[in-house]
Amino acid sequence: MANVIKVHSVDQEYWYIRTQRCKCGGELEVWNQALLSSQDLQFDVLDTRCKHCGHETSYKFDITNFAPRAITQQSMEKIAMGIPAEKVWSFIEIPMEKAVKFIFDLAQAQDKLALDYLEGAIKHAREKFKIILD
Ligand SMILES: [Zn+2]
Repeated sequence: MANVIKVHSVDQEYWYIRTQRCKCGGELEVWNQALLSSQDLQFDVLDTRCKHCGHETSYKFDITNFAPRAITQQSMEKIAMGIPAEKVWSFIEIPMEKAVKFIFDLAQAQDKLALDYLEGAIKHAREKFKIILD
């Protein structure tokens, strides 16, 4: 199992998987999903398979940031099937999902100024906290 990857939404987990490639260069597909918890931490493990060579890799995500106490295997399976997380967990506010939705709303409204402002804010934050880009 690879390192634990800290994420802020289920969508970010699947986005991360989409950015990864097998050693052979093939794209990955998720074939299994499971929740784990230890002490106060909650994890989501996604097992992937290379679409090209079939090599399997597991990714372990730290979902403590957004996982509600009542998170269930059933709710995660619904999300894995493509039901939007906000519909499964309508009673929970997940900041990352709110932020992404807000950005999409701005784009849909053709609010270029607001998107430029947000791009600048992200750039400024990266510089301020010296986050290394790889
Ligand atoms: Zn492969």
